[in-house]
Amino acid sequence: MSTQHHILIIGAGYAGMSAAIQLAARVKRREDVRVTVVNGQDRFTERLRLHMTATGQQLAELSIPELLEGTNAQFVRGWVTAVDADAKTVRIDDERILHYDTLVYGLGSVADTTAVPGVEDHAYALNSAQDAALLADRLARLGSGTVVVAGSGLTGVESAAEIAERHPELNVVLLGKQEPGAAMNAKAQAYLRSALDRLGVQVRSGAEVVKVLPDAVELAGGESVAADVVLWTSGTRLSPLAAAAGLTVDERGRIVTDATLRSVSHPQVYAVGDAAAIRQGYGVMHGTCQSGMPTGVHAAVSIVRTLNGRQPKPFRFGYYHTPVSLGRHDAVVQFTRPDDSPRRIHLTGRMAARYKETVTASPWPTFGRMKKMPASGAFWPRGGRFTRIRAAR
Ligand SMILES: Cc1cc2nc3c(=O)[nH]c(=O)nc-3n(C[C@H](O)[C@H](O)[C@H](O)COP(=O)(O)OP(=O)(O)OC[C@H]3O[C@@H](n4cnc5c(N)ncnc54)[C@H](O)[C@@H]3O)c2cc1C
Repeated sequence: MSTQHHILIIGAGYAGMSAAIQLAARVKRREDVRVTVVNGQDRFTERLRLHMTATGQQLAELSIPELLEGTNAQFVRGWVTAVDADAKTVRIDDERILHYDTLVYGLGSVADTTAVPGVEDHAYALNSAQDAALLADRLARLGSGTVVVAGSGLTGVESAAEIAERHPELNVVLLGKQEPGAAMNAKAQAYLRSALDRLGVQVRSGAEVVKVLPDAVELAGGESVAADVVLWTSGTRLSPLAAAAGLTVDERGRIVTDATLRSVSHPQVYAVGDAAAIRQGYGVMHGTCQSGMPTGVHAAVSIVRTLNGRQPKPFRFGYYHTPVSLGRHDAVVQFTRPDDSPRRIHLTGRMAARYKETVTASPWPTFGRMKKMPASGAFWPRGGRFTRIRAAR
């Protein structure tokens, strides 16, 4: 039987890759530790760019196995079909079983295509690169017609703008309960709205889609909006694997963690990224790339501290921006307080578009740097007084 401590990372997205690279770099010379990374695909999915894939734009080929070369981490391509948190095993593709001593769970989240009837059958989603490529193909063949983007959150806004810019021949309707950019300050929100108008996106807020049909969406109240294509961006769905594993999850299915990112029910499991319910002073964090990467780095550092017989430290994170692309040449960047509420300062136009592109392109070079210099991944805003932990009274 192996005496090596086996760290298994499932899900190589923004958070899982941060954990994998950070760990691989920190335990490179240790013979008593081995690291395995499992992901559904060899290619890293740039979720931040899936609206670009959906409009036929070619992305860089980012290979996970190539990035892991030279580290002692092993890559396993496969789909995780079960986790047994008591037996400490993970089932891959229903046929292989991997045992772990420590698990990093980073399976992310997807838009919820199950809550409204007809979405699974008639709508497209941006839940994977394959989904986005299917939509790109459909849009390229459409010629004319109406695309309804359901969900006026940031993914909906970015997708509607991108489709309108790339396909001026199509009518794009953005439907949702909230005003686009609702969490921004008034000026940033007004800019975002005028950019959508300029691109010809018809915005209908206060609209709740209750059914998706083959050629329309039905709204609460009975009205139908004709649609040749529907893109669903609304809601968040978590993999059912965490709950089925017996891990304590919140009402959305996210793994509830303690302050150090360990599962409150199974401390050998760390949860990172969208899959984790992490409480800070301002509330439970919502999933983003900007917060997901720090969770992965922190989990890795905590695991190494524990292996060295030291206590892991509490995780602290404060949000600092919300960058939203509006096609390839325009964007709004709303700067935020650590609790994600909007500050007065924001950027718009080409400067914002350059900022957004810099942020979107940064994860891969960050992984490359971390591989050589793990400490370079440990810089992020800790949130100051918003996340300071007060002594219990
Ligand atoms: C179009 C779009 C634009 C976005 N823009 C922004 C933005 O500008 N800024 C921002 O901060 N956030 C943005 N987000 C949100 C951001 O992408 C997520 O918060 C982020 O990807 C979460 O990282 P993660 O590592 O937790 O999950 P993911 O990046 O989703 O990674 C999860 C990984 O696990 C794999 N996986 C899942 N299930 C299994 C399984 N059963 N077996 C094997 N592998 C599995 C997936 O294939 C994936 O590789 C955007 C999202 C979308 C869809």
